[in-house]
Amino acid sequence: MHPSLNGLTVLERGWLSSNNLLIHGAGGEAGAVLIDSSHVCHAEQTVALVRHALRGEPLARIVNTHLHSDHCGGNAALQRSFGAPLTIPPGLADAARAWDLQRLGHDDFGLRERFEVHATLAPGESFVAGGRRWDAIAAPGHDPHALMFFDAAHGVLVSADALWENGFGIVFPELFDEPGFGDVGATLDAIARLPVQVVVPGHGAPFTDVAAALARARSRLASFQAEPARHARHAVKVLLKYHMMEQRRAPLAALCDWAAATPMTGFAVVGTALTNDHPVGIAYNTADTTLQNAPTPGTPTATTVGLYGGRVECGSCHDPHGTSNQASGGASFLRVSAATICGQCHLK
Ligand SMILES: [Zn+2]
Ligand SMILES: [Zn+2]
Repeated sequence: MHPSLNGLTVLERGWLSSNNLLIHGAGGEAGAVLIDSSHVCHAEQTVALVRHALRGEPLARIVNTHLHSDHCGGNAALQRSFGAPLTIPPGLADAARAWDLQRLGHDDFGLRERFEVHATLAPGESFVAGGRRWDAIAAPGHDPHALMFFDAAHGVLVSADALWENGFGIVFPELFDEPGFGDVGATLDAIARLPVQVVVPGHGAPFTDVAAALARARSRLASFQAEPARHARHAVKVLLKYHMMEQRRAPLAALCDWAAATPMTGFAVVGTALTNDHPVGIAYNTADTTLQNAPTPGTPTATTVGLYGGRVECGSCHDPHGTSNQASGGASFLRVSAATICGQCHLK
């Protein structure tokens, strides 16, 4: 373990749950401080892990880097178990206090259990824990309200999803046609200016080669900036994977419903270059028995999807005259409902 991490316990978790950083209390402090609380699906496990790591020490406070469901999901269970107050960034504090699930992104981007907010911490402010001063630093890009925490004396950066050893979290604002890539770059610049010795990321093990991680992050950012559709496709994949980890098991129809209703698959993602995201002009590969349906879809009708000469075209799924639109629920002139469209050509 890096010597700068003495007195800290990093609970490294899987991808559905963020890491937890437990800062053990120093003399004169009320107890330990926990940064981030993982996903609600793992809340009881988080309580058990934290209880074990505390070894009888009180939990004096919980602090969140940002309110994504993989970072704040254990707040409620931890509050019930330890009675610890919670400090969050100010950006969504009003939404959290009012439990405004739409602003928190509840159904679309992960589940949460209602928790109580006791204080906010803004960029430029700091808190003391483990005898160290932790400065709150704005980390917009992945999330406009996110914070990182930096202990300058020991060079420890808690980066959350702003910098991982390999990349950074999805740039959510870009999915809603709001600028975010510039903020990612500015956050990486801010990290580069800090005397960081070891990074405790939101996901993955702590790492020390900050320059290499920054270089990888910048190269990924440059590829997203050059081709935003690449980021959009990446986001769809990540969110779908995350949703399935959260649900564990879901009928294909329910997954299609979720995908159709989630803004990330909307026009902001698809844009106008449809071949990036729609399987237009590709041959339907009947040889792929692991993915493709049997029997092979035929010629499309008003209420069935189909192929044109063995190829998928716009008209395979969409009725250009829109006569079937009402029957299919009115979604984008689809021949069948969004809930069943995947299963027309693909096996689970
Ligand atoms: Zn995360
Ligand atoms: Zn996040």
